Amino acid sequence: MQLYNSLTHQKEEFITHEPNKCTMYTCGPTVYHFAHIGNLRTYIMEDVLDRFLRYSGYDLKRAMNITDVGHLSSDADTGEDKMLKGAKREHKTVMEIAKFYTDAFFADCEKLHIRRPDVIEPATNCIPEYISLIRTLLEKGYAYQAGGNVYFDTSKLKQYHVFHDFDEDDLREGVREGVEADSNKRNRNDFVLWFTKSKFEDQALKWDSPWGVGYPGWHIECSAISMKHLGEYLDLHCGGIDNAFPHHTNEIAQSEAYLGHQWCSHWFHVLHLNTSSGKMSKSKGEFLTVSLLEEKGYNPLAYRLFCLQSHYRRLLEFSWENMDNAQQAYDKLVSRVAAIDPDDGAVETEAMAPLQAQFKAALDNDLSTSLAVTAVYDVLKAKVNGATKIALLNDFDQVLALDLVNAAAKKREEQAAPGESDAAIDALIEARQAARKAKNFAEADRIRDELKAQGIELIDTPQGVQWRRV
Ligand SMILES: [Zn+2]
Repeated sequence: MQLYNSLTHQKEEFITHEPNKCTMYTCGPTVYHFAHIGNLRTYIMEDVLDRFLRYSGYDLKRAMNITDVGHLSSDADTGEDKMLKGAKREHKTVMEIAKFYTDAFFADCEKLHIRRPDVIEPATNCIPEYISLIRTLLEKGYAYQAGGNVYFDTSKLKQYHVFHDFDEDDLREGVREGVEADSNKRNRNDFVLWFTKSKFEDQALKWDSPWGVGYPGWHIECSAISMKHLGEYLDLHCGGIDNAFPHHTNEIAQSEAYLGHQWCSHWFHVLHLNTSSGKMSKSKGEFLTVSLLEEKGYNPLAYRLFCLQSHYRRLLEFSWENMDNAQQAYDKLVSRVAAIDPDDGAVETEAMAPLQAQFKAALDNDLSTSLAVTAVYDVLKAKVNGATKIALLNDFDQVLALDLVNAAAKKREEQAAPGESDAAIDALIEARQAARKAKNFAEADRIRDELKAQGIELIDTPQGVQWRRV
């Protein structure tokens, strides 16, 4: 598979440390609020990559953290603690907030058919691992203590800025809004590994450590959780592009300083979802969630389709008009699949091969999901029997997870349901038959109209009266 690697800034052959095995790490959500659909775009595209690697035969193990401690609201090590902010806003404890929004995140994922990673680890579960990692960094001279905190010393590295797509000026501390310079730092990009001097008087979660009671910095959790579950050689690290710096840069710095060799060979970043007013964020404009899409009558899978129609390395612009188009496209696809007779012939494996090859080639080329969706349309047009079409759609759905075949089966059932049983309807039909027998045609017609008003059409057949929903 050819996959763009943010580390080398080019599309390259995806090669894993061990043949046919793949370890994959995903930066998980900070659980202080609902995820917005921009965040979820990243998780959808990562899910497609996860599914495609399995589809391609990899024995994949994927881990994800849940940031339930220590993520400060600015990208630097200052600002407000997001978890604490959420707890204050909702008058709950930090752990109640974490539980509530973790559940909400996975509920959204389920609606979008995003698989749960094999390992899900809350950051608060791994304090001993962070302490051990930080201790080694101190011993190796990559970290120092100052003002009560432990810092990573970026000047000790041969290379720090590995994601060169960023403007150096943007990286300069102090340029970002609301970031105060930390006078304890020796170098501007140094970052905190362990805090003991919380600027928040009511910091709720604290643990004992060799450097005093405190809590871990944000970056350390991903390195420690990844190594704990996926070992010293990571094949693939995923995340939103906004995490590339400083978060991923710092993950690399501390992991490779700790390990003494390259840690992760391939970095996969998903670009932002924009609205007409710019990058989507929780603080700006309408807060777009999966629940809001549902309230407005959209199927979350139509949003999944919307994301798949675009490449993960392109900015995607969200608008309600685009969402309408995606919903229409989804409904049309379901109708077209519903029109296929699944019992038409037997599955012809040979006829499947070229369409499968087309599908796989699309995704093998830097995960071109839009061309993979085109392959779905090509199946619908293909000159193969119904059974083969359904088999192909099921095959592709292992990766796309749009649930077209199931949705179509449901639609077919709803449409043509002579013989469907419903006690109340059957009772009315019986009453109508009785009225007809008694030559009370006015009553019989009234019952027919009553059923019609409920969307039930009666069909007189030699086997008696049947009905269907119209
Ligand atoms: Zn991370």
